[in-house]
Amino acid sequence: MSKPCAIQTTCPYCGTGCGLTVEMNETGEGINSIRGDVGHPANQGRICVKGAALDETMSMDARLLHPVVDGQQANWHAAITRVAEGIKQSVLEHGPDSVAFYVSGQLLTEDYYVANKLMKGFIGSANIDSNSRLCMASSVVGHKRAFGADVVPTCYEDLEEADLVVITGSNMAWCHPVLHQRLMAAKQARPEMRIVVIDPRKTATVAGADLHLAIDGGKDSTLWMGLFHDLIRNYKADLSYLDKHVRVDNQIIELAMHYSAGAEVVARQCGLAQQDVKTFFEWFAQTEKTVSVYSQGINQSSSGSDKVNAILNCHLLTGRLGKAGMGPLSLTGQPNAMGGREVGALANQLAAHLELGSAEDRDRLKRFWGAEHIPETPGLMAVDLFDAIEAGKIKVLWIMATNPMVSLPDTHKVRKALEKCELVVVSDAVANSDTAQYAHVKLPACTWGEKDGTVTNSERRISRQRSFASPQGEAKPDWWIIQQVAQYLGYYDAFHYSGPAAIFSEHAALSGFENDGERAFNISGLANQSDAQYEQMQPIQWPVPSVGHGGTKRLYSEGGYHTLSSRAHLLEIQPRGSQASVSDTHAFILNTGRVRDQWHTMTRSGVAPTLQTHIPEPMVAIHPEDAQSVGVEDGGLCRLYNTRGQVVVRAQITEDQKQGDLYLPMHWSDGFASEALVNGLMAPVTDPYSGQPELKQSAVALCAVETHWYGWMLSREPLALQEKGLHWYRIPISEGLWLYRLEGLAALKDWKTDLRRWLGCDGSGEWLEFADPARHRFRISVLKDGLLQRALFMDAQQLYPQPEDYAQLFSKDFSQPADRLQLMMGQSVRSCSNQSRGRGVCACFGVDTVAIEGLMAKGVTTVAEVTQQLKAGSNCGSCLPEIKQMLEARQSSAA
Ligand code: SF4
Repeated sequence: MSKPCAIQTTCPYCGTGCGLTVEMNETGEGINSIRGDVGHPANQGRICVKGAALDETMSMDARLLHPVVDGQQANWHAAITRVAEGIKQSVLEHGPDSVAFYVSGQLLTEDYYVANKLMKGFIGSANIDSNSRLCMASSVVGHKRAFGADVVPTCYEDLEEADLVVITGSNMAWCHPVLHQRLMAAKQARPEMRIVVIDPRKTATVAGADLHLAIDGGKDSTLWMGLFHDLIRNYKADLSYLDKHVRVDNQIIELAMHYSAGAEVVARQCGLAQQDVKTFFEWFAQTEKTVSVYSQGINQSSSGSDKVNAILNCHLLTGRLGKAGMGPLSLTGQPNAMGGREVGALANQLAAHLELGSAEDRDRLKRFWGAEHIPETPGLMAVDLFDAIEAGKIKVLWIMATNPMVSLPDTHKVRKALEKCELVVVSDAVANSDTAQYAHVKLPACTWGEKDGTVTNSERRISRQRSFASPQGEAKPDWWIIQQVAQYLGYYDAFHYSGPAAIFSEHAALSGFENDGERAFNISGLANQSDAQYEQMQPIQWPVPSVGHGGTKRLYSEGGYHTLSSRAHLLEIQPRGSQASVSDTHAFILNTGRVRDQWHTMTRSGVAPTLQTHIPEPMVAIHPEDAQSVGVEDGGLCRLYNTRGQVVVRAQITEDQKQGDLYLPMHWSDGFASEALVNGLMAPVTDPYSGQPELKQSAVALCAVETHWYGWMLSREPLALQEKGLHWYRIPISEGLWLYRLEGLAALKDWKTDLRRWLGCDGSGEWLEFADPARHRFRISVLKDGLLQRALFMDAQQLYPQPEDYAQLFSKDFSQPADRLQLMMGQSVRSCSNQSRGRGVCACFGVDTVAIEGLMAKGVTTVAEVTQQLKAGSNCGSCLPEIKQMLEARQSSAA
C-alpha cells in the first residue's frame, strides 16, 4: 500500500501535545520534513526545536531490534513464554502482589489501557504504577480533593485570554516551549496582560514576565496560602460563587480573618521583597481573568499535593474557574501523562475514573471486563515499589518505556532493587538504556513513527498519534506484546484486540459504562467509531459524552463538581517546607529540572546532533558568592555530593541563581556522561498523599575539582567508558559519529594501555600515534581500510583542532601514507587553537552566543534585529527568551 505524502500525528515529547505534519518522500520510507500542524488546536502550526529535530532521532542507532532472553537473541514465542511463565509461577508461589508493572507516560493510551487491564483485572494486583508518579501525581490528588475528580478545568486558549497569568514552579519557556510561544504572542498583542513568574531561579521564562518572585525553594504553600488569606481578609471572595458551588468551612474563614501574616510576614518567610508580594496579591485580587499555570516545581515536593490545593483554593475562592481566561492549569510533563490518568494506570486508581476504594466501582469494572476479581487495596507507588523489590517482596517486574535507573531518586537503591529482582522484563525501543542492562528479558517495542494510537495533552485534548514508518527489526506495539502475554496466561477472551481502534473503543465505552455524570471522564461518544473514523479522528477535549458531541473546552463554569455534594472543597493548608535541610557538611540545596533541548533521560533527544548545540553537557548553576566561598571557578569542574552519591559537572556561575541554591538538570545518565546522575543525590522522600518524590530539593556539599589535561575523542560507535579519574560527556555530531569531550582528573599512569582501552581497540585496524607524555600531549588515529574509525587528541594546554572540524576527515580516504600526516597534525582543517566556540543559542540556524554578542557590540539592542540579521528565533522560536535575556543583561551591565 502506498503511503500518503503527509501524515498528521503528535509530538512524543512534552505535555503540550503539539500536532505535527510529517511529510514523507516519494518512496514513503524517508522523511522530507516535520512541521507544526496548522490544523492542530494545541500548537496551530507552531513547533519547538525538539519537535523540529525529530527526524534526526528516527535512525536511533541503539534500537532494540529482537527479543533478548538472558542475554541471547530469542524469538517472540520464547520471550513471551519466559515472561508469562515467570508471572504465572510468581502468582502461584507468592500471590498476585509479587508481580508489578512500572509503565510510562510515553505509552499510548491504548498500550496503557491493556497493561492496566491485565494487571488489575486478571493478574489481580494493583501493582502497576507509572513514571507519571514522578511528574503530576500531586496534581491528581489536588484535583480530586478540590473538585472530586482529576480534572484540569481550563484550556490553552485561557492563557491567551487572561489578563494575568501566574506561572509558578514551571520554566515554561524551556519545558513547554510552544505553549510559552502562544502566551508571548498574546502578550505582544495585548501588552497590558501581566505575567508573574514564581521561581527561585531567573529562568528563560522570567524574560517574558512583568514580575519575578524569586521565592525560596519549597515555600510555595506559604505564598499561595498567604494570598488566599489576603483575599479573604480584603473581601475579595466571590460570595455568590461560594454560596452556590463551594463547600466553605467557617473555620477556614475565621482563621484567615485572624491570621496575622500579611504580605510583610509572607515576604519574609518566602525570602521575597515585601513590595513584590504586595504587588502580586494586588494584581491577583484585581484581575478576574487570571490563569495560574503550574508544573513540576509545585508537584515534585514532599508537600506537592498541599501546594496544588493552595493554588486551587485561590481560584475557587474567587470563582475564577471554568470561564474564558481564568482557572488553574496544571502542565503535564510527558506526552501522555494524562492518558495514563484516564486509564487508571497508577497504583491507587482504577480505569476511567472509577475508584479503587469503592466496592460499587470495583464491581462495575469487574462486570465490564469480565474479570475474576479487582484488587481492593492500592498497589505500591513508584518509590515504595522499588523498596518492595529490594525487600524481596516483588519477584517479577515488567518495565515499559521508561528508564527508572536515571529518573527515580536514590539511584543506588534502584540499582540494588533491580539486581535483586528475580525476573526483570524491559520493553523498550532502545537496547542499552541504563535500566535495560538489568533485564533478564528485553522486548523490542515500536517507537514514535511506528506506533499508532492516541495521547491526551495537558488541556484534556485527545489526539491521534499515527504511524508512518515500518517497525524496525522485530519491534512490536506495546499493546500487542502485553496481549500476547495475557493470552499465554489464558485470558484470550478479554485480550484479542485487532488493533488500537478496538482498544480505544473499549476504553471509551468503559468511560460511559453506568456513568450518569458522576464520573468526569466520559468519552463514550467516541466508543462506536469504525476503524476508518478512528483513523481520521480529530483532536478533541474530553468529556465527549455523546455521539456528535464537539468536546468540552472548560469544566465547572456552572459548578457541578464531582464531589458527593456537587460542591468544590476549599482546604486549609498548613504550609510545610521541604524535608531537605542544610548542615555544616551539606551546605547547599540542590534543585533539579530540565534544559530546553533535552528530554528526560536522553534516549531519544541525546542522538539528535541539532539538540546538542544549546547545552551539550551537564552544568550546575551556582551563585557567584557561593562559588567563591568554595573556590569553584566559572567553567571549571566541581563535585556535588552527599551520603547517597556524587556528581562531577561543570560550574556555571550566575546571578540568576539564588545564594545557597544550586541547579542541575536531570537528563544525563551514565551512557551520556561520567558521574552526572543527579537523581542519585536526591532523597527518596515522598508526598504522603500523592507518593510523588521530592526531586526538587536535596542537601549537598560542593567543592572544586582540578583538571590535569583536556582532550577529545571521535568514534563511529559509542564507547564503553567506565574510567575513574576521567571526566567525559558524549554528543552526536553527525549521524554515526560520536564526540567525547574529555578532562583528566588525574595524571595518566600507563598511557598506552589506558588510551587503547578508552578507544575500545582490540588490536585490529591501524594505530597511528604521536605521544609527548611529559605534556600530556597525545594524538592517535585508528584506521581500517583507509578510513578513520576513531581519533583522540589530548593536551594539557588544549592545543588541538576543534573536533567538529576534524570530523570532516572521517569521510576521507587515507589509504595513501602521504596523507596521514594531517591526521596527526590536524592542520588541514583548522589551525591549532585553544579558542572554543560560543554556546549554541538558536539550534535551528546554528547561531551561538559569540555571533549574538558580536551584533550587540555593534549596537543591536532588539530581538527583532537579531532575528533579522542572524535568522535566530525565526523558525521554532525556542531561543527567543534567551536572546531577550542576553540583550537585557548587556543593557543592564552597560547601564
Ligand atoms: Fe513537542 Fe515542543 Fe510541542 Fe512539546 S512544545 S509537544 S516538545 S513540539
